[in-house]
Parts: sequence; C-alpha cells; structure tokens
Amino acid sequence: MASVLVVEDDQFVRSALIRHLTDASHTVRSVGTALEALREVAHVRFDVVILDLGLPDLDGSEALKMLRGITDVPVIVATARDDESEIVRLLNAGADDYLTKPFSVEHLSARMAAVLRRARPVAGEVPPSTVLRVGGLAIDPLRREAELDGVRLDLTRREFDLLAFLAGRPGVVVARRDLLAEVWQQSYGDDQTIDVHLSWLRRKLGETAAKPRYLHTLRGVGVKLEPPRAETSP
Ligand code: CA
Repeated sequence: MASVLVVEDDQFVRSALIRHLTDASHTVRSVGTALEALREVAHVRFDVVILDLGLPDLDGSEALKMLRGITDVPVIVATARDDESEIVRLLNAGADDYLTKPFSVEHLSARMAAVLRRARPVAGEVPPSTVLRVGGLAIDPLRREAELDGVRLDLTRREFDLLAFLAGRPGVVVARRDLLAEVWQQSYGDDQTIDVHLSWLRRKLGETAAKPRYLHTLRGVGVKLEPPRAETSP
C-alpha cells in the first residue's frame, strides 16, 4: 500500500487510474495540472508520483525538473511519446521509470512495485544493518544515514545511493556504466547525469574535483571512494 499522487489532466484516464489504484488499496490524490502537483508535493509526502507529460500548464519535462527541485519522491512518467531519446532525457532529468500510453493496469502495478521496492526496501529483504566506514565517513544503508567526521550529511536519495554504493567497495574504481546500472538502474544514459550528482556529493563532502579527499574521478575510467591520504597538518 502506497500513497500515490496522480497528475493527469484527462478526466477519463484520471478516474480509471484512481479506481485501479484504490482497488489495489493505495491511497490516491489526483490533480490535473503541474502547478497543483508542485503544490501537493511541497506539502504532502507521497510514496510515488505518476506524472502525465501532456499537461495543460507546463511541459512534462519542465514539470519534472521543477518537481525534482523540491522532492526526491519516485516519479513514474506516463508519456504518449514513444520516443527513445525523449525517454532517456526524462530518465536523466530525474524520472525513476516511465510508461508509454496506453498502458495496462498490470503494467502500471509492476512499475510501481519496482519503484517502491527501490525507494524503500521491505524489511526482511534487506541485510542486517552494517555501517560502512571509509575514513571519517560512516554510512548506514538500512537507516539511510551518512555522517562525515561525526556530522550528519544531508543527502538526496540519489546522492545517498551513490555514496553507499561506492563506500561498499572502497578503493575500487567503478565504471560510469556500472554506476548507471547499479545506482540509477538504467542500462543507458549519459555521463553527465553521474557527473552532476558526483559534483553535488563532492560539495557535500566538502571537497573539490581539483582537491579530492574521498571521491576520486579517473577521467575516462570511473570513480572511486577511498579514505583520504594522511594530511600534513598545517
Ligand atoms: Ca494529458
């Protein structure tokens, strides 16, 4: 059971979605415009948002970008455009998954289940909490908490996933396509997405690409996380 925000302007599609989701015992709220959706997610914590891309007020990818600016909630975009480059662009813009219209209830349920599973692992499916430690970093994958030198890091979902994945294999160079597959669960995409998230993460770790401490980018090869070299004290 999940709380779902349906963003769909087509009254017919909308009521069908609400009916199916309610039947599957999800809690549903629905709005017909992108601006209403933004207002909703700013106030209510949803488990998943189903976002129609053909909305009357904002272009779908614009809406997605604004949504991503305020929340980490998993977003499944529903698009009538069966255009691979457009879909890749949306996935890179922060969509967690997509559905091409018209889609079946079964298809929607499967996509939702997958997105929810990723966003909040079911207890019992996850291994016992093991805190990953790399230098002054402590990452608790189960509680989704990360600290640097005892100070809690305020990370987005993706930043956390990225950090936890790298911290699980300290010193190992991970190729970008492996990060895409493991952290983004995508088999395709561009390096820019990863680079952007890496630079955000780097900033939160208080380091720069020019003077890395934990995060090391090997151009054309990949990324690794390792404890900082012993620093000469000033
Ligand atoms: Ca529409």
